[in-house]
Amino acid sequence: MKKKKIAISACLLGEKCRYDATDNKNVKLLAKLENCELVPFCPEDHAFGSPRPTMDLIQTKEGQKAISNGTGADLSDPIKQYATVFFDKHSDIDLFIGKDRSPSCGVCSARLYDKEKNLINTKEAGLMAKEAKIRGIRSFDAEVFICPETML
Ligand code: SF4
Repeated sequence: MKKKKIAISACLLGEKCRYDATDNKNVKLLAKLENCELVPFCPEDHAFGSPRPTMDLIQTKEGQKAISNGTGADLSDPIKQYATVFFDKHSDIDLFIGKDRSPSCGVCSARLYDKEKNLINTKEAGLMAKEAKIRGIRSFDAEVFICPETML
């Protein structure tokens, strides 16, 4: 039987690609995925390297943007471009698993702020996860996927 092809945040696999060059390795999650083909991604490391300043998802008049907490720069375009190239290249992805709460990878858990940094939503999709959802790919936050009732 053909293995399920799963796009997954690289930090969950143990890659040290977080903003502080650490990882989010999730052994329980990896055990659940042992018979799958895993395709890791990290838009932020690809665009900005690790370590890097953190960023937040901000609601603006032009839509949701990833804004650097270090410089205030709009970092959205490199993340979106990475997502487009990734999903075009891997058009046969069966499932997307993103690191919960990330402004890039969170599926239903990213925090959204207004321009004054007031928290306005805690159930947003990050910029890469949004692209997965637009393309109709089944998508889960990692913390949801490891729940026993979540099936492949
Ligand atoms: S949550 Fe996404 S952007 Fe952040 S380190 Fe993990 S893979 Fe990279």
